[in-house]
Amino acid sequence: MASARVTCRKRPARRPKSAFEGALDLLALIRIVFLRKSSDALDLLTEARLERRFRSAQRELARLYAGYYVAELLAELTEPGDPHRELFLAAERTLLALDQEAPLAETVLRFEAAALTQVGHMPALAQCVACGRPVEAVDRVPFGMTAGGVLCDQCRPGRRGVVSVSGAVVEAIRRAAEIEDGGQPLVIEPAIRGELRAVMGNYFAHLVGHRLRISEHVR
Ligand SMILES: [Zn+2]
Repeated sequence: MASARVTCRKRPARRPKSAFEGALDLLALIRIVFLRKSSDALDLLTEARLERRFRSAQRELARLYAGYYVAELLAELTEPGDPHRELFLAAERTLLALDQEAPLAETVLRFEAAALTQVGHMPALAQCVACGRPVEAVDRVPFGMTAGGVLCDQCRPGRRGVVSVSGAVVEAIRRAAEIEDGGQPLVIEPAIRGELRAVMGNYFAHLVGHRLRISEHVR
């Protein structure tokens, strides 16, 4: 019977676990050590330690998409190897807030505003982007997608890529950029959320040259 046991012994069906398996999870916060290779070779990962998992991935589809959207914005707005400490910290705070059941629409808009501020593309919202005159966020406001902000009545004519945006949406974006942790919380009225998503999706599309893949899933 001993010989039968030997012939029945099989190779393991799965390869042995990699040293990093479990640590390299999507949207997880990981501390890594790697060796930088030349520009045309992949860097060599030598250590990976999981600091925090993105738990929303298993719980709620809308929060999972919001997490993907954070990752997509980081990829689109930064260059590989170009560190942005404040932007990284904002992304980390956002993923944690999504995990802690923070309100979704407000959390996403705050990250968008933080990201735009960090990369220097926050639209002008209180002054005309062309001439600097104050523009009040009342009723509807002309917003130049290409120009990068609101326009006064004198500067609007003849410009391309101008859309009419409600004053409430302009005000929500402005507040999201200025709000501080621990201050008065940001509240986005449900009535303007659809328009807000459309405006942000349009603005990012103008900024990076194409529509973001995840943005249409973020409601
Ligand atoms: Zn103007």
